[in-house]
Amino acid sequence: MPISVLSVASEIYPLVKTGGLADVAAALPPALAAEDVRVRTLVPGYQAVLSALEDASEQWFFADLYGSPARLLQGRAGGLDLMVLDAPHLFLRPGGPYQDPSGVDWPDNAWRFAALARVGAEVARGVAGGFVPDLAWAHEWHTGLLAAYLHYEGGPPVVMTVHNLAFQGWFPAAVFATLGLPAAAWSVEGVEYFGGVGYLKAGLAHADAITTVSPSYAAEIRTPEGGMGLDGLLRLRADCLVGIRNGIDTAVWDPEGDRLLAENYTASRVEGRAVNKAALQRRLGLAAQPEALLFGMVSRLTWQKGVDLLLEALPTLLGCGAQLALLGSGERAMEAAFLAAAEQHPERIGCRIGYDESLAHLIQAGADALLVPSRFEPCGLTQLCALRYGALPVVARVGGLGDTVIDANEMAMAAGVGTGVMFAPPSVRMLEAALLRTASLWRDQRLWRRLQRNAMRTDVSWRRPAAQYARVFHDVLASRAA
Ligand code: ADP
Repeated sequence: MPISVLSVASEIYPLVKTGGLADVAAALPPALAAEDVRVRTLVPGYQAVLSALEDASEQWFFADLYGSPARLLQGRAGGLDLMVLDAPHLFLRPGGPYQDPSGVDWPDNAWRFAALARVGAEVARGVAGGFVPDLAWAHEWHTGLLAAYLHYEGGPPVVMTVHNLAFQGWFPAAVFATLGLPAAAWSVEGVEYFGGVGYLKAGLAHADAITTVSPSYAAEIRTPEGGMGLDGLLRLRADCLVGIRNGIDTAVWDPEGDRLLAENYTASRVEGRAVNKAALQRRLGLAAQPEALLFGMVSRLTWQKGVDLLLEALPTLLGCGAQLALLGSGERAMEAAFLAAAEQHPERIGCRIGYDESLAHLIQAGADALLVPSRFEPCGLTQLCALRYGALPVVARVGGLGDTVIDANEMAMAAGVGTGVMFAPPSVRMLEAALLRTASLWRDQRLWRRLQRNAMRTDVSWRRPAAQYARVFHDVLASRAA
């Protein structure tokens, strides 16, 4: 039987994106359509969303949503069915979705995302004529309160998806009085969290089911080391917690048809990668050396991503004759450190600070190996792109990285299944060892080609994950009905 779902997300690719959440929010609805799950996504009316919205029609009007009127719009953008919370006083401003142009959190984030959750709850209960979803689907802390509203006020069941437990949305206790929740919600069983209001905690406590983005991460977040303060609650809720790995949009990430590449190629015609490697080396001013092992990295430059480990391991990388192509942005100190390293070794280290879709694609197609030395990684998307593009992922064995890459150890090679290089724990020493091991694999080009073929054959699509999400949705509806 078809299911109708209201997904509520603060980001959606390609309109608004700070991380993998945007990719997932955009890619899953079309994949779920094949499972007979119809998804409409409610997103905040950021400028980029409003500009892209076509055939917009007003569905509802809120006379006072945290101080000013707001509208609920419905329309299409980028091939997706969207509902948009048009609340200019909350979402139309320069800067990012969560931070002002100088990188400081917006002081009214508590109300911006309470408003999104509040409107999500109304839509879930059918306020938008003609759209009465069977269930609501909340993503990240931004929409955690949705589960609380529907729990206390009634409405369809909620599935809560955690994309990264590190972002929890904690606000001071005074915020509680402005949320319109009953007094009973101010408790350890409710939304109270360490003396304040925990938005993600609210979602985890009240959702009918919780999913996260890989099986290993689902296990890690139930431990004190990986639970970031929420492991106790997640252990309590373990029976409704499922890990489903992310996929990537294999139409956007398709080496055969990708228009952002210097040359297209397939698993059986990998020679085309050499043209991309040369183009990448040119673009970053690296020495034009086809034989040099070229590592790539596309990442937020933060502690989570282990970029400081890579910085310390750079002498080893250079020592084995390799090059590095790095694209990312994040912590200022990290950005400066990589720029300085690139200035010191211009022919060996190329570094671009910023967000650059086309360079990200070229790195995947031109680098020989892709580095993901994360300290923790809920799923990770860049290693999935790397598998598809034949850049061997060199990853820390954490979260979804461990679930999606097969280490090219002797046993895996004997079985013909290795797809990359994995190291644990995430430390400078182990990363250095992994760099050296990758360099020694690189010296055996026949072996390297085999690994590359295995990597490119890996199923990184949304097909299987979409079927697993559909199963979760059906199970939740069945248990509500029981
Ligand atoms: P996270 O969501 O933790 O940042 P993921 O690996 O799950 O990490 O997703 C990151 C996504 O953002 C990937 O699609 C990656 O290609 C993309 N990305 C990250 N940094 C950049 C950048 N500087 N330029 C272009 N794309 C980037």
